[in-house]
Amino acid sequence: MIEIVSDTACISCDLCVTVCPTDVFDRGADGLPVIARQSDCQTCFMCEAYCPTDALYVSPVSVPVGADSPHASEAAVRQAGLLGGYREMVGWGRGRIPGSRLDQNPVLTAIPPLAEPRLGEPAPLADSPWNHSRSEPAPKST
Ligand code: SF4
Ligand code: SF4
Repeated sequence: MIEIVSDTACISCDLCVTVCPTDVFDRGADGLPVIARQSDCQTCFMCEAYCPTDALYVSPVSVPVGADSPHASEAAVRQAGLLGGYREMVGWGRGRIPGSRLDQNPVLTAIPPLAEPRLGEPAPLADSPWNHSRSEPAPKST
């Protein structure tokens, strides 16, 4: 859930206000975005991904963390290198490697289940939390 707008890093470009699919932000009188409807945040990270100055932090917790949480502290989040951390992780921003080039998601390489000659042989499925097709427990015998 959106927790932090850094007023020192923000350049009032309004991108976060525009891209938020649930209209969480208002534009404040000083031009800085205001988290006006935090409970409407769906933790989609889009605002953080689009922010050109890494001024936003979306906590991975899908409910408000509360004022005493480090996830609500700009100093703590900044010290941990997490302000704009999602944007960095997906590789958006000048000089960063796009996350799609580093993607190791086995589902994307193992699918499609239907043969497609232009795609070659599906890669073997790796054991991972993303692999839903092999992780079903065996039925119990009665
Ligand atoms: S994480 Fe998504 S829903 Fe939440 S404020 Fe950002 S853009 Fe809006
Ligand atoms: S996208 Fe970033 S720089 Fe632009 S208004 Fe929002 S917080 Fe500020």
